[in-house]
Order: sequence, then structure tokens, then C-alpha cells
Amino acid sequence: MVWPCPLPVDAYVAAGREVGFPRLACPSCAGPLVFWSGYWRHVREAGRCQKIFVPRLRCGRCRVSHALLPAFALAWRLDVAETVGAVIAEVAGGGCGVRPAAARRAVPYTTARGWVRRFGCRARELGVGFAALAVELGGEAVRPAADAAGFALAAIGAAFGAAAGLPGWLAVGVWRFACSVSGGRLIAANTTSPYLMVGKRRFMPPVPP
Ligand SMILES: [Zn+2]
Repeated sequence: MVWPCPLPVDAYVAAGREVGFPRLACPSCAGPLVFWSGYWRHVREAGRCQKIFVPRLRCGRCRVSHALLPAFALAWRLDVAETVGAVIAEVAGGGCGVRPAAARRAVPYTTARGWVRRFGCRARELGVGFAALAVELGGEAVRPAADAAGFALAAIGAAFGAAAGLPGWLAVGVWRFACSVSGGRLIAANTTSPYLMVGKRRFMPPVPP
């Protein structure tokens, strides 16, 4: 699970275990989740690695626990969503090659190439999902294009444009938004599509004040 955390990474890091997080409902049964435990993981922003605390919440009814990632952290990725998104937007958008985009963000070339490839593989699915979300949120309709990656980028932009009309989302930013609504799995290898839940707006939790 991912919550739309608007905090700068440094502020989240500084809060440690005391970081405030919203009480979300269980994604399976919509029942209450209670704080269970948590773990530490690393994130890298602007070339700097830091440790963040990730709370784990548990649903008593389902007897399942869920990690609650802040929206800047992608599942199984060290680099923050803004870094990953910026590289993808530049390269998939045709602005430049992987090498200069990676160099600008101080990430290894092979890492950045992996993000762009994965995004390319999932582009059609992401485009369809985000285009549906854009419409669901009252935004503009985006038509599939021959260039799948360009379609996905346009759809993410349209969905964020619509979400930005809801309280708080504009400050969260486009890549944290994309991470939030994909459950942190924007460029994950294999995943069930979270966009099936779009109709219930399960992936649009309120942004905490
Ligand atoms: Zn539950």
C-alpha cells in the first residue's frame, strides 16, 4: 500500500519512527487497519541514500498485514519516484537518451536503462489504466497512440491533471501520484493491475493535510 505523502524526503527521514501516516482502510475488506510493526529501508534521492521507516498495518479481520509506503518510495526500487519518473519522462518522451538522463540524476546508467525498458514493456497497460483514471476523475480522454510510451506518459499527465483538482494532490506531484495509484508498482515486474479498482476509487485516498 502507498499513501500520498506530501512530505519532502528529508522531513520523512527526520521523523523516523514518529512519522505521521494516515489510517487507511484494509484494501481487501475496507475494515480498520491497526499499527502492527514496521521495518527500515533505504531510499536514494539526488545521489544520497537515506533510511526510512515503513510502518506495517494489520487487518484483524483478514489477518493480513500491509506495508505502508510513502508515495516517494516505489516497491523494490532504491531511487525515489521523482527520480525514476524524471528519467522515464525524458527518455520515453524523446527528450534525450538514457545516458545523459541518468547522469543528470546521479543514477547508474544500467539502473536507468532498466526503468525505461520496464516502462516500455508496461506502457500499453499503464496508458490504458491511467487514461481510464483520467476519465474517472473527470479529466480529458487520452486516445491510445502508436507510440505506447508516449501514450502512457500522456495518460499519466492527464490523470494527474484531473487529480490535481482534488485537495492536496497538486502538491504531491505527478510521479508520487503515479506511484500512489499504482500501489508503488509503476514499473514492477509482474503485478495484478490495480486499475481494476479505479471504479471504487480505492486508490485515491485523501492527501493528509
Ligand atoms: Zn481486511
